[in-house]
Amino acid sequence: MTVQRILIVSGTHGNEINPVWAVKHFNRVGKSLIHDIKYEFIIGNPAAYEKGCRYIHVDLNRSFKESENFDQHKNSFYETKRANFLVDKFGIDGSIPCQIAIDLHTTTANMGTSIVLYGRRLKDFCLAALLQNKFGLPIYLHEKDKSQTGFLVEAWPCGLVIEIGAVAQNFYDSKIIDRFSVIIRSLREEIDKLKNNLIELPKELVVHVHQRSIDYPRDEKGDIDGLIHPERINQDWKMIKKGDPLFLDSQGITHEYEGDQFVWPVFIGEVAYKEKKIAMSYTKKEVICSNNQWVYEFESL
Ligand SMILES: [Zn+2]
Repeated sequence: MTVQRILIVSGTHGNEINPVWAVKHFNRVGKSLIHDIKYEFIIGNPAAYEKGCRYIHVDLNRSFKESENFDQHKNSFYETKRANFLVDKFGIDGSIPCQIAIDLHTTTANMGTSIVLYGRRLKDFCLAALLQNKFGLPIYLHEKDKSQTGFLVEAWPCGLVIEIGAVAQNFYDSKIIDRFSVIIRSLREEIDKLKNNLIELPKELVVHVHQRSIDYPRDEKGDIDGLIHPERINQDWKMIKKGDPLFLDSQGITHEYEGDQFVWPVFIGEVAYKEKKIAMSYTKKEVICSNNQWVYEFESL
């Protein structure tokens, strides 16, 4: 196993402040322990964190794309420069190369503690399976969504997002901070075990695969005209079927799910996704049989 350094990013979105606090505390306590693997902790978007906003010009967690470098306009954005800086410094070919990136986020949706994966990288599966096995965490597998690309962890050979909620933006919640601390500690334990070949993969990985996102109902002016239905709010990861309520509009009319397939909505009512015109995302449950190849891939990092 050649993992030597792991990058832990908090504050990729400047108004998600609980992981920043958790990392600060972890850094103080964790430094006294001796481990083979080094950890680098960084605030993803320090300028936005300073201001208490999600980003300055554009979403940093959509700015890790090769093509951005050829777009002069986007090149002037703070986040485009910041993404380049992070890759130049901590990327696999950077001055302080990290093999794995863990990006810590919070959500205003009732997602609990969850993992987000981007695409089907076997190394990510390995790490996610260990965490799911330990805590039973749900996993959102984001793929085939052309409107959402350029995620931070995709710029590293291995990486995942830890997403915890519900918590309001810019609001400290000690329960949420504790959950981050537990996850960071466990990640380190699991990776140490992997390094010492003490790991046995669980038989399977259960993922919720992204299908599509839906917008709120809108009036003729394009303004949102619908609340998340009282029966749907906070019901992330729960299956819905045709006829189940989604929204309640200003006329008192219930808008229902009309698809034929069962789906599992996530990020229900996430505040930050309003600007992306996403009221919730539909996922489909899939069970993936684990494979020792995942561990080999991880070891060859
Ligand atoms: Zn975030």
